[in-house]
Amino acid sequence: MVIETWSPEETFAVGEQLGKEAKAGAVYTLNGDLGVGKTVFTQGVAKGLEIDEPVNSPTFTIVQVYEEGRMPFYHFDVYRIGDIEEMDEIGYEDYFYGEGLCIIEWAELILEIIPDHARKITIEKDLEKGFDYRRITIEE
Ligand code: ADP
Ligand code: MG
Repeated sequence: MVIETWSPEETFAVGEQLGKEAKAGAVYTLNGDLGVGKTVFTQGVAKGLEIDEPVNSPTFTIVQVYEEGRMPFYHFDVYRIGDIEEMDEIGYEDYFYGEGLCIIEWAELILEIIPDHARKITIEKDLEKGFDYRRITIEE
């Protein structure tokens, strides 16, 4: 599924819809360059899960856990991971194969442990279509 957006609010709304429809145990990888809108999208997902606390990129931890919503929300950013063993240390399997929703940024760094049931979301710019244009591809 490909969705085009023309503002941060629209991207937020796409994330919100995904959060509303998400089933427990779903895993999504979130791909795209810096500044493309991954955090905006993730904040929408959190809203869709009825999470009220602020959601930002988990800069200093690999995973940020939000328990207050419709289901647990596990937001991973593995950009700074040094070794895949760090994933074992945080007990990643409890999240990836758990009853919450996982969003994993920079999943390409840990591809060997991404579950088969994970779905890929990619956000891209196309400057020919304008500065605020984004194409969001959600794998079926
Ligand atoms: P990332 O987390 O991918 O590094 P952010 O979500 O932090 O990116 O930032 C995206 C930036 O792009 C924000 O400043 C946002 O206002 C801007 N922006 C402009 N147009 C869009 C759009 N259509 N969708 C999402 N963000 C957009
Ligand atoms: Mg971000």
